[in-house]
Amino acid sequence: MNVWGYWKCPYCGETVRADHKDCPKCGTSIPNDVRFFMDTSKPIEYVDKEQENNEANWLCSYCRTQNPTQAEVCENCGAKKSDALGSYQPDPEPITPEPKPNPRPRQRRQREPEPVRKRSIIKALIFPMIMLAAILIYSWYIKPVDREGEVISFGWQQEIGVEEYNTYRENGWNVPSGGTVVSSNREVRSYKQVLDHYETKTKKVAKKVKDGYDVKYKDMGNGQYKEVKTPRYKTVYENKTYKEPVYRKEPVYDTKYYYDIDKWKETDVLRTSADDHEPKWAETDLPEKVDSPKYGDKRQGSRRGTYWVVIKDDKGHEQKLERSLDEWKDLKEGDKVKYQTHRYSDDPL
Ligand SMILES: [Zn+2]
Ligand SMILES: [Zn+2]
Repeated sequence: MNVWGYWKCPYCGETVRADHKDCPKCGTSIPNDVRFFMDTSKPIEYVDKEQENNEANWLCSYCRTQNPTQAEVCENCGAKKSDALGSYQPDPEPITPEPKPNPRPRQRRQREPEPVRKRSIIKALIFPMIMLAAILIYSWYIKPVDREGEVISFGWQQEIGVEEYNTYRENGWNVPSGGTVVSSNREVRSYKQVLDHYETKTKKVAKKVKDGYDVKYKDMGNGQYKEVKTPRYKTVYENKTYKEPVYRKEPVYDTKYYYDIDKWKETDVLRTSADDHEPKWAETDLPEKVDSPKYGDKRQGSRRGTYWVVIKDDKGHEQKLERSLDEWKDLKEGDKVKYQTHRYSDDPL
């Protein structure tokens, strides 16, 4: 829809509606070089549909009168439109009417959302960035570092397991071959998550809703202004309910077997140790192998050992470092050994 613009009488200063060619107060005619304007202090006056005109006036090349586009000859001197000098240059920028004190302050509403959005983006990024920095610092901090020390002494400990052949009571979800089931029982083997019920919860959801229009007036170059409405939106928050599943832990039962089984089992150890570089196994009369054993028979079981060096670190502290037997054997007093520690501690890993 178009609304009427105005012109100012150059003689008496009256504001005259654009469809009047003469000043109603003093009779002065509309000047040839007239510039139309909107008078936002006056109530808006709409142009009748049949009078609506969206094309700029043309300027007569002889008398410079402004003529509406539908006039084929100058309304003042009869010169042809095809000889026109040009046309009225409308204002390029649409006019925004002055905000009225009521019903609401439009300007503020329009400008506010942007800084708020920017601030919330920054807010949303701060936490992940702090987390990332914390993770990086932490992983640097706990990353092991290499250090070097000098071997000053040795130590070792060796064990021979002592195994006894007997009937042992064991239990399990399966019975191994040779086992004799004594009893069985339904017992909890594991747990599974089972859907128990749904819980109704509410959350706030942002929603954009229409909040009236922003109105601007575009100069048509003939005394009329086109009313351009753009819808304005605002964000409102609504409570929305949703269902969230709640799970419970449910036990899974299975049959557990209690059985007796005849076998070799470690019941004791023969231990030797010393702070020197010459490891020795314990002396024993126990056989390594027993054919067709009887209950209560004993034999040698597995052999294992731990071997360490005592080093002096770069701060002069003594540290104990465990090494494999082969590595340990080759070390000599005064050798440099590398080991790993943390940044925050002197203790070897
Ligand atoms: Zn006048
Ligand atoms: Zn003319």
